[in-house]
Amino acid sequence: MEDTSSRWGIIGHQWAVALLERSVALGQLAHAYLFLGPPRVGKTTLAIALAMAVNCEASQRPCRECRTCRLIAAGRHPDVRLIEGGEVRAIHIAQVREVQHELGLSPVEARRRVVIFTDFQGATPEAANCLLKTLEEPPGQAVLILTASQQGRLLPTIVSRCQRLALRPPSGPTIEQGLVAHYGADPDLARRLARLAAGRVGWAVQAVGDEALLERREEQLHCLEQVLSASRLGRLRWARDLSEEEEELPALLDTWLAWWRDLLLARVGCSDLVDNVDRRGTLEAEAARRSVPKLVSALRALSATRRRLESNANPRLALEVLFLSLD
Ligand SMILES: [Zn+2]
Repeated sequence: MEDTSSRWGIIGHQWAVALLERSVALGQLAHAYLFLGPPRVGKTTLAIALAMAVNCEASQRPCRECRTCRLIAAGRHPDVRLIEGGEVRAIHIAQVREVQHELGLSPVEARRRVVIFTDFQGATPEAANCLLKTLEEPPGQAVLILTASQQGRLLPTIVSRCQRLALRPPSGPTIEQGLVAHYGADPDLARRLARLAAGRVGWAVQAVGDEALLERREEQLHCLEQVLSASRLGRLRWARDLSEEEEELPALLDTWLAWWRDLLLARVGCSDLVDNVDRRGTLEAEAARRSVPKLVSALRALSATRRRLESNANPRLALEVLFLSLD
């Protein structure tokens, strides 16, 4: 089988690429797609690649080299819109209305308009309800793509009107090969990043071009050490200080979650499977000081905090509860 994911520039998700490629080739695209999957798994990258495949000028689509593909990649194509939601900033009804207005017009130069809404689980109820109308009566030539990390937070009526593609985190070796093949990463760096990424393709790709990301991870782990060694009062201060950088919290908690998963692996004698390969010694020592039930309850507390923040809980309170429970 031809490896289409490499032409699409996608790491992993081969089945999804094959399915979309087939739909493009047969002219049988759905009007609306929903790409589901954990943060940074590659949902937006796949959505942009689909926008290219729909409108690319070459015969093997997407070529990622023609003018159309390049404009789309640069976010400058007049008929392809990317509207980014986020854990903190929600998509508003005004943004949906603007898109609906544009969809009523014929494309400026593309075959089909493509609109991508990312992290749609964070959209306001008004925005979601407003988009529902467009999904019910899709304008002839448009393709709508929504991405979301949690299906449970979307209106069921939205989900049922989209073709759903659930993306799972690719394996370490898949990410490693992809970083070398598509992003020209040095093989040693690719191996290290693939393990540290723990399925977060977007993080790994970003880290290839940005060494500061690896440094940030060091800081995040250092911060965890300090929280754990702080007194009760000290922990409350940490909660206050960290909650002021709300945008950073999802990434911070992801790093901590990966750390705690590794502690659990090390505790049950599987340190060869840890993601934080560069800190195996510390992991083993730290794991030995904790019981399995304790590690499991810390993991649960971290995941719960991550979910609470996504649901717009008060970050300071959420961190206080977490920090007082961690041990
Ligand atoms: Zn092209």
